[in-house]
Amino acid sequence: MKIRPLLASESTNLSFEFFPPKSEGGSSKLFETIKELIPYDPSFVSVTYGAGGATRDLTHDLVENIHKKTDLNIMAHLTCIGSTKDEIFAILKRYQDIGICNIMALRGDLPKDSSINPFPYGGFRYAGELVHFIKEHFPDFCVGVAGFPEGHPETPNRLKEIEYLKQKMDQGADFICSQLFFDNNDFYDFKERAALNGISCPIVAGIMPIISKSGYIRMADLAGGARYPSKLLKQLINANDADIHKIGEEWAVNQVNDLIQQKVSGVHLYTLNKSSSSIRVIQQTSLSEKSI
Ligand SMILES: Cc1cc2nc3c(=O)[nH]c(=O)nc-3n(C[C@H](O)[C@H](O)[C@H](O)COP(=O)(O)OP(=O)(O)OC[C@H]3O[C@@H](n4cnc5c(N)ncnc54)[C@H](O)[C@@H]3O)c2cc1C
Repeated sequence: MKIRPLLASESTNLSFEFFPPKSEGGSSKLFETIKELIPYDPSFVSVTYGAGGATRDLTHDLVENIHKKTDLNIMAHLTCIGSTKDEIFAILKRYQDIGICNIMALRGDLPKDSSINPFPYGGFRYAGELVHFIKEHFPDFCVGVAGFPEGHPETPNRLKEIEYLKQKMDQGADFICSQLFFDNNDFYDFKERAALNGISCPIVAGIMPIISKSGYIRMADLAGGARYPSKLLKQLINANDADIHKIGEEWAVNQVNDLIQQKVSGVHLYTLNKSSSSIRVIQQTSLSEKSI
């Protein structure tokens, strides 16, 4: 089922993000997680992709497996950096053949290893070019793109950044899914700046409950420099891991309640392949109303 029409509903949609595990054990644990989350009736689940194709087959296999074993609506992430058009075409064809109809079109991060050419001849430079390619060759795919409420670390000019986002929409993207954020004001301001630039599509809010000290420190790096508001940091700084878990959940619950009140079209929970925090956040918000 295409995601865009689902996001037009009155109520806030729930969705989950998973990453492809590298081991058999990780994979069976993930399917346990998925089984535990299914009763909460997500509008879709997404599967991430290793930039440059590092985990390309793992992503395909996981998407295919979830598709075979469950009724979940799936969005496959796809990054274009380091790939040729022929490679991207083959991946999209494979998804189309098994009945996947939602793609998250991304550029991917630039490789840290300077010997790797991120832009091979006949490839793509920006996610917008990938969106254009998908819509040209596979017009039936519903396409999501990334948005950055706090700004993308590579973009010094925030005016230009929204212009580039608008270009992705003009290339045919159907909706935006945001990077995780911890201050809802950043998200609301991002939405307003997008609207001022003529972006009227649904924007799904990315929320990640903090579950550990190592986790939030890692995220500050991985998510392009996640900004922790001082009010949250004050609580986290001297807390032990058990307390951090609780603080992170409470923070996410407050964020989600506020987002629902502001009628955002979707809340996308970054699960880190675990169910417990997501379930507790859902149960303490009206996101649980859809579930059995
Ligand atoms: C919801 C979400 C899911 C993600 N999932 C994954 C994943 O599964 N795998 C993964 O590897 N990464 C993922 N990422 C991270 C993403 O790949 C990186 O943040 C990447 O650096 C930017 O990707 P993008 O699609 O936003 O690129 P783009 O939109 O191409 O932007 C990249 C940079 O180029 C600039 N730019 C864009 N268009 C132009 C233009 N026309 N001219 C000049 N500059 C331009 C932008 O401002 C930005 O600085 C995800 C991010 C989000 C928010």
